[in-house]
Amino acid sequence: MDGFVHDVPASRVLFGAGSRRQVPGEVDRLGRRRVLLVAGARQREHADELATALGPKVAGRVHEVAPHVPAPDAARTAAMAHELAADLLVCIGGGSATGLAKAVALRTGLPILAVATTYAGSEASPIWGVTEHGRKVTGRDRAALPVVAVYDPELTLSLPPDVSAASGMNALAHLVEGLYAPDASPVTLLLAEEGVRALVDALPRVVAAPADPAARADALYGAWLAGSVLGTVTMGLHHKVCHVLGGTYDLPHAGTHSAVLPFVAAFNARSAPDAMARLRRALGTAAEPARGLHELAAGIGAPTSLAAVGFDAERIDEAARLVAAQRPVNPRDVDEPAVRELLRAAHAGELEYEPA
Ligand code: NAD
Repeated sequence: MDGFVHDVPASRVLFGAGSRRQVPGEVDRLGRRRVLLVAGARQREHADELATALGPKVAGRVHEVAPHVPAPDAARTAAMAHELAADLLVCIGGGSATGLAKAVALRTGLPILAVATTYAGSEASPIWGVTEHGRKVTGRDRAALPVVAVYDPELTLSLPPDVSAASGMNALAHLVEGLYAPDASPVTLLLAEEGVRALVDALPRVVAAPADPAARADALYGAWLAGSVLGTVTMGLHHKVCHVLGGTYDLPHAGTHSAVLPFVAAFNARSAPDAMARLRRALGTAAEPARGLHELAAGIGAPTSLAAVGFDAERIDEAARLVAAQRPVNPRDVDEPAVRELLRAAHAGELEYEPA
């Protein structure tokens, strides 16, 4: 066993069908009395249910959240929290709702109770992101980590199959990059391998039967592990590529992850043999892990090419330059020509892609 540092920014986690009903008790446990409830428009029904359960403890509500946390939204919501004398942020939704709550937490020092409704994993990580003048800036700050994360699979029953599939691939990306992270510990490796196993098993069942509570619970379990790994170790080339593509060209976040992941796995395969062995085991395939990921995405109807998520091939050169300039921490050295080749292959969705 080699030496390691295991430094986990942990939250209290409530997992299980109906766990959303424990939120009022959690608010009491935290000693909070004035909640600012943050939810996107499509989570209105779930947010209304939560608001009714919280009763007079709801000091105010935000009914709209935009993707990638526009800075003006963060500033406006922080001012609202201040005016309302809020003492707790409760968010319910995917990464966009959680992201807004995180940006407000950083500006106000308020704690967050996050109720997850997708597989993005933001509720388990101290990573924040805000978009200003078309540029998304991200960072890590423990003040952005929710103090409580609630995973109620019943809330994910309404997540459409295509959104579930892409969101699940987003979670897989955290796990795959966790397997070769330079600061992985034996524990994060266990979490990552177990998370891949859970998602590979659950996602096809979710897509085949979106209302199956057991499949939903298993997928959400994998998503929790993915968020925990994301929140603990350093992500590599894949996350830099998706960050640049999503932030610069306004591509759909989860679908972009799905399209890019197999190609980064192929790129890194020879430089991360231990990670690939774990990945192969967790995917349950004798084939190359890149192929296993590509086939999984195709099988569940998640995007398998950057063309499919609307990325214009004319922007490949520019995107390659932007990614290389970010100097990703990655098991294999990254330069601009290599990223260009990777993006070309990912744009076409060519399974044959064999990195030089
Ligand atoms: P999202 O929150 O925008 O949700 C995707 C869509 O699904 C939205 O239209 C939303 O309203 C809808 N939706 C969510 N839950 C639903 C449900 N249960 N039923 C029906 N519809 C539902 O997207 P996302 O993929 O969850 O998150 C993406 C954002 O989160 C990006 O901005 C990304 O950068 C960020 N993110 C951050 C972290 C982090 O650790 N900071 C991790 C992952 C993602």
